[in-house]
Amino acid sequence: MSAKEDENIIVVVRCRPFSEKEKLAGHSKICSIDTQAGSVVLTNPKSPSDVKTFVFDASFDEDCTQTEVYNRTARRIVDAVLEGFNGTVFAYGQTGTGKTFSMQGIPHEPNLRGIIPNSFHHIFNHIGQSKEKTFLVRVSFLEIYNEDIRDLLIKKSTKQTGLDIKENPESGVYVKDLSSFVVKSVEEMEKFMDFGNSTRSVGATLMNATSSRSHSIFTITIESSDRGLDGEERFIAGKLHLVDLAGSERQSKTGAAGDRLKEATKINLSLSALGNCISALVDGKSSHIPYRDSKLTPTMSPASYNFDESLSSLRYANRAK
Ligand code: ADP
Ligand code: MG
Repeated sequence: MSAKEDENIIVVVRCRPFSEKEKLAGHSKICSIDTQAGSVVLTNPKSPSDVKTFVFDASFDEDCTQTEVYNRTARRIVDAVLEGFNGTVFAYGQTGTGKTFSMQGIPHEPNLRGIIPNSFHHIFNHIGQSKEKTFLVRVSFLEIYNEDIRDLLIKKSTKQTGLDIKENPESGVYVKDLSSFVVKSVEEMEKFMDFGNSTRSVGATLMNATSSRSHSIFTITIESSDRGLDGEERFIAGKLHLVDLAGSERQSKTGAAGDRLKEATKINLSLSALGNCISALVDGKSSHIPYRDSKLTPTMSPASYNFDESLSSLRYANRAK
């Protein structure tokens, strides 16, 4: 990857494989990805001479593995968080293009697990090898659904009203009364992730509809202490936010292409407002730190009928560079 090391934000794109349904419907492929150059070329199916080229810090095609994506995107963020910095990984894109696959994947399958469970393994591997330090790891999990913030780690039967966002000079922006749990192993982290996923707003059958309208944020706080050469105890803390954003398309896929694009842009505006809030969380203390502390992974469909959405996602990602 040719990305510069001192950038605070890096942007990568991942295009998923054709689904069986798309194959059966005979949609043509309108994107071409050069993984070496990090470029994505999108062709308008209605006008083959209308070709848009985008270049990102990295781009992944349908053949790339979950491990490859982790190693080339989230790995260094998690390393920085272990050193006491703050970091965020976002997945942005049209519903059905692989945000949840990229962030979560299939958690208990080593080759198919996504960025979130891969970060659990990474964190506890690191802790296991750092005998001279003491670590305290905590997790929180929330969703933003219909403008309400809901704690995903408390029982569903507990009557919840929306949580508030607060700010204080010490800790920056935070969600008041959000629960957090100390975890001591990968398995414990996975349990909290599974539990949180089971408490999302709407039942499993409607999960797709719901998840396209709700954002979820899995937060891992890592504190560590050791003794410096002078015998003084040193204490550091870092926070990692792992964000699976709402779908970037409008909710009903009807209407003319032009309108669709306009509305998608409006949703993109609300998504970029959310992005600003979350980077405020991240930036609390770290605005001067020369680390890549935020990362955006848009995901896209390769198929012609999704041209508008793919173009809109690439433009959004392009703005974040
Ligand atoms: P989103 O969260 O963006 O709405 P999903 O992550 O749920 O989309 O992906 C939609 C479908 O496509 C799922 O069945 C998922 O398993 C599959 N999928 C997405 N990305 C990939 C990929 N890179 N490789 C294989 N299957 C994928
Ligand atoms: Mg999803």
